Amino acid sequence: MKRIAVLTSGGDSPGMNAAIRSTVRAATFNDVECIGVMRGYEGLIDGEYVPMDRSSVGGIIHKGGTILKTARSERFKTEEGRAAALAKMKEAGIEGLVVIGGDGSFHGAKLLDAAGMPTIGVPGTIDTDIAGTDTTIGFDTAVNTALDAVMKLRDTASSHDRLFIVEVMGRNAGFLALEVAVATGAEYVIVPELPVSIGKLCEMLREAHARKKNHIIIILAEGVMTANEMKDRLQDTGGYEARVTVLGYIQRGGGPTSYDTILASRMGAYATESLLIGKRGVMVGSVSGRMVLSDLERSWTERKSLNPELLDLMGKLN
Ligand code: ADP
Repeated sequence: MKRIAVLTSGGDSPGMNAAIRSTVRAATFNDVECIGVMRGYEGLIDGEYVPMDRSSVGGIIHKGGTILKTARSERFKTEEGRAAALAKMKEAGIEGLVVIGGDGSFHGAKLLDAAGMPTIGVPGTIDTDIAGTDTTIGFDTAVNTALDAVMKLRDTASSHDRLFIVEVMGRNAGFLALEVAVATGAEYVIVPELPVSIGKLCEMLREAHARKKNHIIIILAEGVMTANEMKDRLQDTGGYEARVTVLGYIQRGGGPTSYDTILASRMGAYATESLLIGKRGVMVGSVSGRMVLSDLERSWTERKSLNPELLDLMGKLN
């Protein structure tokens, strides 16, 4: 291979820039040219290609977001859209592609690979809901961003003996909520994987009050219900008055932690070098601290489980 390309797709996550940098630099280290594709699959179809060299990825390692921008592409979901992308890539002499994104992006990547373009995925999402890897680029940063916010709320919660519901992201998975809950010492975590009825939650709150625990933080995964909905239901069912904070998009922003920066640097380089030795249709993962490859398909066909030890800890430490 003499020329490969890299793009970021789907939701952005902190550390994507570090992954772009490492993909480009590993390519140039191996005397391979790397092209940057703007706006994910949209740019792939439209031929929005920018030549990149070592210096074009200088000064981005600690920046949040993605310099290549990201987008969602309805056109890429169609066979015609993918055929147009393939034709544009062939025209530009591109022989392989690194896709940095989540499971949706990997679905597209697999189809492109099957259509004839060697493609490798690098998992970048704060939700970390991707099988085949212990963690994904951006997750650690999002946990730390939420930690910072929740610890500030905790000051008010304890000063006023208040009940707070903090809604965190994670789509339909509870990984982010669970780690945030353990890291912040929250009293309860409510995740889609382990539903708790409002009646049961009211019972738990009554027990907490009986233990003289008057300031309470509930970390709620967005996949369960909205924090406002939970607030109303706690009021209606148990007469509890809760304050609501929705962390929202701040969780996706900011520069990556050292953990995510190193993970992104390892994954980008590993993806490039795997592509160069003929691997394709796979994604890079970090399993027990080692770089591994697994079939892209696992990312959307397999559901990763929450760490039972952390769930158990929540029950013991609140
Ligand atoms: P993420 O990669 O963060 O999960 P999305 O699910 O929005 O984000 O997917 C990003 C893009 O990947 C979509 O806009 C689309 O272009 C492409 N994609 C997603 N699912 C498919 C699919 N089933 N077939 C082809 N392309 C897909």
